[in-house]
Amino acid sequence: MKIICIGRNYADHAKEMKAEVPTEPVFFMKPDTAILKDGQDFYFPDFTSDLHYECELVIRIDKVGKNIAEKFASKYYSSVTLGIDFTARDLQAKCKEKGLPWEIAKAFEHSAPISNKFISVDQLNLSDVHFELTQNGVSVQKGHTADMIFTADQIIAYVSKFMTLKTGDLIYTGTPAGVGPVKIGDRLEGYIGSEKMFSFSVK
Ligand code: MG
Repeated sequence: MKIICIGRNYADHAKEMKAEVPTEPVFFMKPDTAILKDGQDFYFPDFTSDLHYECELVIRIDKVGKNIAEKFASKYYSSVTLGIDFTARDLQAKCKEKGLPWEIAKAFEHSAPISNKFISVDQLNLSDVHFELTQNGVSVQKGHTADMIFTADQIIAYVSKFMTLKTGDLIYTGTPAGVGPVKIGDRLEGYIGSEKMFSFSVK
């Protein structure tokens, strides 16, 4: 199983990062060891002093495919969930400065918390999904999938040009504006609509 993450898929987040809005999807990957299942504590890593949350809608691939045409992409997934793309922003800034890959800032242990619940795409309109992250009960990020620069289908078509997508692969579809630091003692909770999807503590 692999985890594919899309960068800068919301114009307001690209703007807050002072990054250009991309003309093609930008993606990077995390290993399966990045998964942190809902309810497990996250332990703040000692190699960063600026760890940021990025709450993202996640698509689960449930059929093997490569070179998938956009018009057929919706046949390759049937459920979505919510997760966090934890980012060591200080390490990422150093990588960016030197033009180096981002793995140390993005792919570390438990950097991909994810809900245990998946919602069938039949139960929602994927272009009209509202999601939210709260930090200690305060709303810090609100996203609406209508604001995605690249849709799930466009992302699948693009990524599958380069690699085969397999059953169980996860695609983190990018974060809206509002990213910020987490600290030990924080409680993070994610919602799709009014449904609580995950809740965990930073220790
Ligand atoms: Mg992200």
